[in-house]
Amino acid sequence: MKKRIGLLYGGKSAEHEVSLSTAFAVLKAIDFEKYDVQPIYITLDGEWCKGPQLSAPVSSIDELEFKNTSETQPNNILRFILDENNTQMEYDVIFPLLHGTNGEDGTVQGLLEVLNLPYVGNGVLASAAGMDKVVMKQLFEIAGLNQVSYVHFLRKEWEQNQSAIVNKCENELPWPMFVKPANLGSSVGINKANNKEELINAINVALKYDRKIIVEQGIVAREIEMGVLGNDDPKVSVPGEIKPNTEFYDYESKYKDNSTSLIIPAKITSEVHSTMKDMAIRAFKILDCAGLVRSDFFVTENNEVFINEVNTMPGFTPVSMYPLLWQNSGVSYSELIDQLIDLAVERYEEKQ
Ligand code: ATP
Ligand code: MG
Ligand code: MG
Ligand code: MG
Repeated sequence: MKKRIGLLYGGKSAEHEVSLSTAFAVLKAIDFEKYDVQPIYITLDGEWCKGPQLSAPVSSIDELEFKNTSETQPNNILRFILDENNTQMEYDVIFPLLHGTNGEDGTVQGLLEVLNLPYVGNGVLASAAGMDKVVMKQLFEIAGLNQVSYVHFLRKEWEQNQSAIVNKCENELPWPMFVKPANLGSSVGINKANNKEELINAINVALKYDRKIIVEQGIVAREIEMGVLGNDDPKVSVPGEIKPNTEFYDYESKYKDNSTSLIIPAKITSEVHSTMKDMAIRAFKILDCAGLVRSDFFVTENNEVFINEVNTMPGFTPVSMYPLLWQNSGVSYSELIDQLIDLAVERYEEKQ
């Protein structure tokens, strides 16, 4: 029996576009001998549109642009779970290929829990905690993971006393600083600040995306990432290094200008390697992750390792770091899709 996969993509998120290319890549590579796939597109406004049932790969992104065709009117979420006869839709597994808010942050995962549907990847808790960089760092602290210093605050606090926050940053963090919306990804809304004026500007930019802001000590270091795959007994991939050709690994260098080199496996000492493996697993466990995570590290010239963050639904095109790390660890792109679907079923069954 073929498994019926509901592939959620798009999403009400600043990372909507990234999800479109990921979904297209998965639909090209998924094994249609094993799966029937129904794409479900979530518009930028958060409307859910059911696409045509697919039993063969799509050859162009246009085939996914069903959002404007008459056969698939936008559905509200209730229509998504109910078919024409008002019985619940049957999916064996939902694959939420969503990045950022309203998708990678536990909200969609919560909906799928309520609907009692198995789904790929992290559950509510890990998704929510992994999306909020402040909560994530507080948990990393408990796990004893080495990380850069940071300051955090809310929009309201900024509006009430801007200079107190600027002073706190200046007192607690060396220049340069990195300013980030707490809940986002793909470097959206992130800026480096070399002085007070840039700091204020960067905070005002980040506040367009979130009511919670994190300011971090900027660090001069290599950026090395690792993939983690599994449920209660996760495995770690080979490490991969990112070498952006820009000031830092920003949105343009991630998706637009092709200037970034990925070096897999990263050349690191065996000591750094085992530290990173240990930290990647500890990060996975403290957040109670499931399925997959990409852990991002900084490694300094004198081989000190800092964890930067985890991503609970990392970029997933065949040229994205996470699948490439697994390809270099002996797991092909389509095998990776199979394993993630199997892990989803395993986790669902264990919870019953
Ligand atoms: P994604 O989810 O796509 O990995 P993100 O939006 O969650 O990205 P981060 O990974 O936290 O953002 O940061 C994006 C990039 O900014 C990093 O890859 C790195 O190049 C740079 N950066 C972030 N924080 C720091 C820091 N404290 N010091 C130096 N560089 C940093
Ligand atoms: Mg991230
Ligand atoms: Mg991310
Ligand atoms: Mg990152």
